[in-house]
Amino acid sequence: MIENERAVINVKGHLIGGDWFTTIAGPCTIENYKDLFQVASYLKKLGIRMFRGGAYKMRTSPHSFQGLGEEGLQIIHRVAEELEMVSVSEVVSVEDVELMAEHIDILQVGTRNMHNYRLLKKLGSIDKPVILKRGMCSTYDEWLLAAEHIKAAGNDRIILCERGIRTFDNNHTRNTLDISAVSTCQQLCPYPVIIDPSHSGGRRSLVRSLSWAAAAAGADGIILETHFQPDTTICDSQQTIDFDELNTIISKLPQLAALWNKKIQRYE
Ligand code: PEP
Ligand code: MN
Repeated sequence: MIENERAVINVKGHLIGGDWFTTIAGPCTIENYKDLFQVASYLKKLGIRMFRGGAYKMRTSPHSFQGLGEEGLQIIHRVAEELEMVSVSEVVSVEDVELMAEHIDILQVGTRNMHNYRLLKKLGSIDKPVILKRGMCSTYDEWLLAAEHIKAAGNDRIILCERGIRTFDNNHTRNTLDISAVSTCQQLCPYPVIIDPSHSGGRRSLVRSLSWAAAAAGADGIILETHFQPDTTICDSQQTIDFDELNTIISKLPQLAALWNKKIQRYE
């Protein structure tokens, strides 16, 4: 497929891949400026420089909150500029790509869109890194070929994200984290591979063990959902962790990532 040198993706001086273990965190969805600013400022204090927040949400039910749309993009853009942080947000359709590329630093393709090849091709034409989540029922080959769609269209700044696959239990876990995805994909392609412990387990009580498992397995990072008051969040509150839990999780990541000679980027 591709020569397998580990790619390092540099976003405004912040690194993903290679020797680095990167944490991306933030709310599931952007609800308003004040809350997003509060979450992102706290993350910055912890040494996290990449934050997430959805403006367009792919909700299973049409009756659930669908996101703030363009207003959400403006909010996340403003927070990223004010705090000099890197923003991550999901793109859900071809027609939003250009607008999103103006506002967002890293565009995320969600599990439901991994097979949306027109969207992937369009993402090949922009100069922004793409987090490509694994389709919930997709094989590794399908996932890597989806990445090829982006690369073949001109963009090789791709980050793969394992977010849990569908197996037979959805009563106690939302999905099943396929931890083998880390080594398998790292052996098959140069792209960084990160884990989403929030959407994998779907429960707050699972995020710590899945995050630590990710670091111990040699993942290039994690992306997780956090908020100062998880119970009040509109979307995915059951899997959103509070700041105490986030602190506990990140406190052990340096040791675990060191198993694979990976470091956490430090800032003065
Ligand atoms: C998300 O990250 O907000 C999201 C919807 O994730 P997924 O596409 O993995 O369900
Ligand atoms: Mn979510």
